[in-house]
Amino acid sequence: MTDPLDFSYESRPVRVVFRPGAAVSATPGEVERLGLRRVLVVCGSRGAETARAVADALGPACVGVHDRARMHVPTEVADAAVEAARAAGADGCVAVGGGSSIGLGKAIALRTGLPLIAVPSTYSGSEMTPVWGLTEHGVKRTGRDAKVLPRSVVYDPELTLSLPVPLSVTSGVNAVAHAVEALYAPDTSPLVALMAEEGVRAMARALPAVAEEPTSPDARGRALYGAWLCGSCLGATTMGLHHKVCHVLGGTFSLPHAETHTVVLPYVLAHNAPAAPDAAAAVARALDAADAATALRELSGRLGAPRSLAELGLTEADLAPAAAQIAGQAYANPRPVTAEDVLVLLRAAYEGVPPTTAAH
Ligand code: NAD
Repeated sequence: MTDPLDFSYESRPVRVVFRPGAAVSATPGEVERLGLRRVLVVCGSRGAETARAVADALGPACVGVHDRARMHVPTEVADAAVEAARAAGADGCVAVGGGSSIGLGKAIALRTGLPLIAVPSTYSGSEMTPVWGLTEHGVKRTGRDAKVLPRSVVYDPELTLSLPVPLSVTSGVNAVAHAVEALYAPDTSPLVALMAEEGVRAMARALPAVAEEPTSPDARGRALYGAWLCGSCLGATTMGLHHKVCHVLGGTFSLPHAETHTVVLPYVLAHNAPAAPDAAAAVARALDAADAATALRELSGRLGAPRSLAELGLTEADLAPAAAQIAGQAYANPRPVTAEDVLVLLRAAYEGVPPTTAAH
């Protein structure tokens, strides 16, 4: 157990504007504040309409809309976006959409050094982190670089009103995963622990309300508030086993990102709980439950989320190579990880059986 009063914490200079309607009403001001005159708006094809509304609000300060974002930022998608930014003579980038759009904005920032403004439409939390990801030949690489941390984040709950309930639930649990791993990260700190517990609490209370009334501005606002806190936790700490498992399953086995996080999180939390009792207790408190892993699985299951990796398209033959790839990577984790442990954990998640903390 680490001493809670022995820590390093670096605050990161992200300006956050949180307001209904802010995507259109506040983004132009954020662009102006940064002195930008020629921004490229990037988005995915499904989010193009919203991105165009933001582009229209920017008027002459927008030099184009690039709507080619794809999940996990394939390198050829990043190359094309960098080329579009250069061809347009862009002096900045505004990413409108989910983690895939923000990831593409980060790829542009990484390669060109252009400042990034993020206008998120999901609960992925990517907007609060200096973490980038690129996928080449089926392998996802991630790294940290201050250049990719958005200078400004515009949170507009109205943008999330259209997020379908199943994606809202899994995206929300993706955010919760950031907070859970931050609680037991080697570089956690008292401030991160406060944000993490409050982030889990806010998200866990908001999601049932979102599922019941997806167009409720109040429920959407509270979920986005939770996403902000959880994303901030991810930005401030080092990821552990859970994120590595999901990167491999997404990057190499093409499993959908948020759904994979949702299925895997209870199993990793159950695995790590004996080595991180304070983190598990904080999550349980936030969920108002006796056992954090069980409560997480029940929360997402009750709201209709997938329960097993099999449902997401993983096959039994994938389990051993996935486990080998996950165990072959280096990462900080409160409980040591062997290929055998990962295989047991993956098999349980594949079958969707209740998670247990039993020693593997
Ligand atoms: P996504 O951005 O791929 O969006 C999922 C789907 O939802 C897409 O089809 C998108 O068009 C649609 N969508 C998004 N917002 C919508 C809205 N408001 N209404 C209707 N449809 C909407 O998925 P995601 O889960 O937000 O992000 C996943 C990606 O983000 C992954 O590549 C992941 O690795 C990355 N990520 C990165 C970090 C980081 O810190 N670098 C953190 C979290 C996630």
